[in-house]
Amino acid sequence: MGIEISEEQGAYLMTKIRARCTEDGDCLMWPGSANSNGIPSIRVGKTVISVRKLVLMEAGRWKDGLNAANTCGRYRCVAEGHSAALNRRELSVLSAERTKYHLRPERNAKIAAYARKGSKLECAEMREAILNSDLSTRAEARLRGVSQHAVCDLRGGRSFKQYSSPFAGLGAR
Ligand SMILES: [Zn+2]
Repeated sequence: MGIEISEEQGAYLMTKIRARCTEDGDCLMWPGSANSNGIPSIRVGKTVISVRKLVLMEAGRWKDGLNAANTCGRYRCVAEGHSAALNRRELSVLSAERTKYHLRPERNAKIAAYARKGSKLECAEMREAILNSDLSTRAEARLRGVSQHAVCDLRGGRSFKQYSSPFAGLGAR
């Protein structure tokens, strides 16, 4: 599964990735393609590889056999600070934590109640869930019981903060 990337090619790819991403807080959101599992992916020569893996490789934090995981819960985020090379056990701990959070009954009840009210997306939990989701606008709207317009507005209206380095968090030094 190893892939050889020259120093020059690595630097070029990182520049390309940074240029495409949008900052959102400490997150760097990848707007490009994703593989069938929703993992941000980029073509390198004849191979399509995970953007997160590439970021970890370039940061010297990658080892073959590990999994490039996202740690902030936003699957489109490829910030180095929100990525980790995890072994299988660590990965399962991480996903168990996430599942626990997503299955929290009070959270889901709250989301369902807002959805029933015809919701203007006033529920912070629901807004967060929509922003963190990789589902299409249409799928999210159907799932939450709100209009596609509301989902669209929410996703398009994220505020962007200016940080000292435009690439903070991606391992830029
Ligand atoms: Zn993030």
